Amino acid sequence: MVLQAKRHLLLIFFATVLVLVAALVWMGLQLLRQDRALAGQRVREQCEAAADLAVASLQEQLSRTEEQLTALSAASSADLAAAAPAFAGRLAADSVLLVLGAGGMDAYPEHRLLFVPDADPPPPVVGALFADADALEFRRQAFREAIAALGPLARHADPAVRAEAQLRLARCLWKSGDSSASLAAYGGLARFRSLPVMGLPAEVAAHEGRMLVFEARADRNSLHREAAALCGGLRSGEWRLSRRAYEFYRNEACGRIGSPPPDPPEALALALAAGETWANRRAGGAGRRIVWHENTPILLVWRSGAERTAVAALGRRHIEADWLNPRPGARLALSDPEGRIVAGAAARAAVPQTVRLASATRLPWTLHASAPEDSQAGALPARQRLVMTALFTLVLLVLAGIYFIGRAAARELEVGRLQSDFVASISHEFRTPITALRQLSEMLAGGRAVDEGERQEFYRAMAAESERLHRLVEGLLNFGRLEAGAIEFRMETLDAAEFLTSVVAEFRKSAEAREYEIELDAGGTPPRVRCDRAALACVLWNLLENAVKYSPDCRRVWVGLAREGLRAVIRIRDRGIGIPPVEQKRIFQKFVRGAGAKSRSIRGAGVGLAIAGQIVAAHHGAIAVESVPGEGSVFSVLLPEVE
Ligand code: ADP
Repeated sequence: MVLQAKRHLLLIFFATVLVLVAALVWMGLQLLRQDRALAGQRVREQCEAAADLAVASLQEQLSRTEEQLTALSAASSADLAAAAPAFAGRLAADSVLLVLGAGGMDAYPEHRLLFVPDADPPPPVVGALFADADALEFRRQAFREAIAALGPLARHADPAVRAEAQLRLARCLWKSGDSSASLAAYGGLARFRSLPVMGLPAEVAAHEGRMLVFEARADRNSLHREAAALCGGLRSGEWRLSRRAYEFYRNEACGRIGSPPPDPPEALALALAAGETWANRRAGGAGRRIVWHENTPILLVWRSGAERTAVAALGRRHIEADWLNPRPGARLALSDPEGRIVAGAAARAAVPQTVRLASATRLPWTLHASAPEDSQAGALPARQRLVMTALFTLVLLVLAGIYFIGRAAARELEVGRLQSDFVASISHEFRTPITALRQLSEMLAGGRAVDEGERQEFYRAMAAESERLHRLVEGLLNFGRLEAGAIEFRMETLDAAEFLTSVVAEFRKSAEAREYEIELDAGGTPPRVRCDRAALACVLWNLLENAVKYSPDCRRVWVGLAREGLRAVIRIRDRGIGIPPVEQKRIFQKFVRGAGAKSRSIRGAGVGLAIAGQIVAAHHGAIAVESVPGEGSVFSVLLPEVE
């Protein structure tokens, strides 16, 4: 009943603690949720502020650029010559200023375009000057004479004539079989740099001619060098070439140095945007437009004046580095009306972002501001981690507390259960001798003994029962004193063999009455031990009593004494019911009784071995059991030997 109540109390306690833990976890999670919401709100506010700042700065940059373009489109030629390079000097490497006038299109910086939309008009024909030389070269194949005819023209005052003469000279020398002289002549031609010769920059014509010579000579190294020089020049936009010429010579030259690598996308997009600008040159007015080539966007901003149109073709790098400076607390991106990212980096889909539509800002892009990725791993998660850790530790502590309390309570319950078993057993233990004594004394008082012999028999039985009662009470008193630590041992040095013999002799009397035999083997040199005679006798008596009690079938018990190392060992062996391995340690605890003892209704209170264990420990000794269920047990008492 009491145990049941205790169990209920324990359950109520655990349930309360669990409810508390659950409440704690719930509160922690709420705290985290609120914290996250708060942090999200802060990030959103940061993004809003960053977006407003970015819009203002982009609007300012754009209108400043437009003002400058207006000024350029209306400037005098002299002012333009100074202002255009200054404007271009502030552009990033993927941007260019285009000035479209009656005479064609000029790019600033000069060499930024891979090719120009429309090549210059063909150079003035100077064919008449070369009629004789051409006739000698082509019709009569008289190359030496043609070379002689070209001599004076190569010294002509007009560089265009000189350059054409140089080209023909190099060609005729080659045809006449003098390849070294031809190469030298091409070298001379290259010195005219970008001067157009028969529609091509002189340098390109010279490279092309020399490549043919080296190819014919099978001079692979020189051919490779020449092709690399031409290819490098083409890629750096060194010459004003039409798109078709650019692509032809790029394939010619770059093809000879291996597979031609693709054109740099930014430069290609810029050249194509310039082409588009040129194609729409008559549209005039003012405007902004984003054009794409593959994945490269170019923003075209233009202003037209009476004389010319000034166009800024701005690449991604210019906008990112100059206009879209990174701002703390937000990451910015610009997208075109179709949602393609023009500048900056797109945010991950899950990240909240602030958007400023092009229609609202009057910018050519939609602006996106989002929390930078590292802000997710910054101060906010650190705080969350702290709360989580605290929560986790708390839950762990509470769970550990529950575990230990549970364990202690389970132990208490077990002790309680054992105690109530003990009370039941001890009552029984007392009742049996008391009942016997009462009956015997009643019979004696009632004169029911027939003769003197029977009367003596009754007296002997009464003496045996009172002895049993005495031992029971002594045992319990000893146990109580031992528990309270109130027992005082009177130590003396004993001859172990002599002592054991006297205890066994005493026990034999009680055993023989139950028809048990005790066999003692105390041979060998008797060891000497220091002990309390009465206490040690109590230990041995308990063990002998158990050996008899738990051996219902075999009515013989063996007692032995031996010296092992520096210890005296007393062994008490029976061939009784034995003890299962799981019980072998527990039986030395107070109130613990084995399952075999209970199932066979063998009398006992479960304190005998606990008393024995405590007394032996007080003698600095040890007690051990070896047992096989069904075969018997051996209890050994080990005591330190003295000199
Ligand atoms: P009790 O004998 O009064 O039950 P003990 O403390 O003397 O209490 O013994 C504890 C338990 O150990 C016993 O209940 C029994 O199960 C087991 N036991 C002790 N000695 C023996 C033995 N010689 N043979 C078998 N079991 C034993």
